[in-house]
Amino acid sequence: MDFDLSEEHRMIADLVGRFVADELMPLESDVLAREASGGGLAMAEADRVRIDAVSRALGLWGLDAPEDVGGADLPMVAMIAVNEHLGRTVTPYTLPPDSPNLRMLAATVTERQREAYLAPYVRGDTISAIGISEPGAGSDPSAMITRAVRDGEDWILNGRKIWISRAAEADFTILMAVTDRDKGARGGMSAFLVDRDAPGFSVLRAIPMIGGAVTYEVVLEDCRVAGWKLLGTEGQGFAPMQLRLGTRRLEMAAWSVGMAARALDILCEHASQRVTFGQPLAQRGVIQGWVADAATSIHAARLMAYDCAWKIDQGRDTRVEISMVKAFATEMAWKVIDHAMQALGAMGMTKETPLQLMAGKIRTMRIYDGPTEIHDWVVARSLLGLKR
Ligand SMILES: Cc1cc2nc3c(=O)[nH]c(=O)nc-3n(C[C@H](O)[C@H](O)[C@H](O)COP(=O)(O)OP(=O)(O)OC[C@H]3O[C@@H](n4cnc5c(N)ncnc54)[C@H](O)[C@@H]3O)c2cc1C
Repeated sequence: MDFDLSEEHRMIADLVGRFVADELMPLESDVLAREASGGGLAMAEADRVRIDAVSRALGLWGLDAPEDVGGADLPMVAMIAVNEHLGRTVTPYTLPPDSPNLRMLAATVTERQREAYLAPYVRGDTISAIGISEPGAGSDPSAMITRAVRDGEDWILNGRKIWISRAAEADFTILMAVTDRDKGARGGMSAFLVDRDAPGFSVLRAIPMIGGAVTYEVVLEDCRVAGWKLLGTEGQGFAPMQLRLGTRRLEMAAWSVGMAARALDILCEHASQRVTFGQPLAQRGVIQGWVADAATSIHAARLMAYDCAWKIDQGRDTRVEISMVKAFATEMAWKVIDHAMQALGAMGMTKETPLQLMAGKIRTMRIYDGPTEIHDWVVARSLLGLKR
């Protein structure tokens, strides 16, 4: 195993580190104030436009997109370093395009879809969403009942999706639906490219969540989708969907490492300065235990993320490792952030530090893209040789 980044990839990762420190971190106080006063988790529009221009000028768009559509085709290992840097700040910003749907599209598009969907997505001209979850199917997507049936050249979709991030803003949603009831998830689930203005596609309501997140409920009522917008092979949507989920899970592990490392920095700085009962907190055994435990578990999670990324770059099957690292890293960051909040006392309960936003964000990350218990189940089933 060799996780060392090439000189070029190291330079790109360092550039992202400087971009986060110089451009995103200074916006945090403004982001925190806006969120605390009920304005949601967002940058001011003028800042977003400026940050987009800066990141584009630095060449940070399309980092892991294929070269033939204008990307830099970075390996997963390099993306771990990139995402760890991005995880350090609560200023909400994604370097376009968002990787998971990108990888799903890159693995499945036809020539026509490449021109119409993938290329504009890589250029940052469009944003996308993914519609998997339903009121009766979350952890278990094979229980989904949204149906797609053929109507001449077109498909007609009927059903309901819930908890869909970005559904209202997205130019298109990659929507999972059942095309063969008898085969279900294994051979009967397909993916469709559904435009925001597709007839019969409507966003029913926004659902505010903790950590500044907003998801949406979506209804499909005789939603007509042109035949060429079937993504990948009919009935074979499950594997590309897993590729997409795996990309996000590994990304989340890297964000968790960045978040935990930032929380540990805040904890250490505070513990050195704050004096109680005549001694700095840093002298207390409890605090030292938290610091050592945090540093050790951050190190472990970082190595797990690099190991998993390296194996993906080698083309190896990492289903079990992805579950291990997603669950370990998010639970790890949850604990580190909580200890940092505890060490800061009342200050840790305010909306003036980034810790509370990080806590809300990591809390949602223990659920989406598979709750911890599901990932533990995947690992245990593999070891015990059990089927579901
Ligand atoms: C912020 C956020 C953003 C999201 N964005 C999207 C999105 O963009 N697109 C999308 O499709 N979905 C999205 N989701 C949905 C998310 O993927 C689901 O919430 C998740 O898969 C869990 O499904 P569920 O909520 O139905 O929980 P359930 O499946 O009902 O599970 C509830 C709990 O039961 C336990 N549990 C369930 N099964 C088992 C088991 N076999 N063994 C042990 N314990 C078990 C776990 O503790 C689990 O947390 C998002 C969710 C959140 C919170």
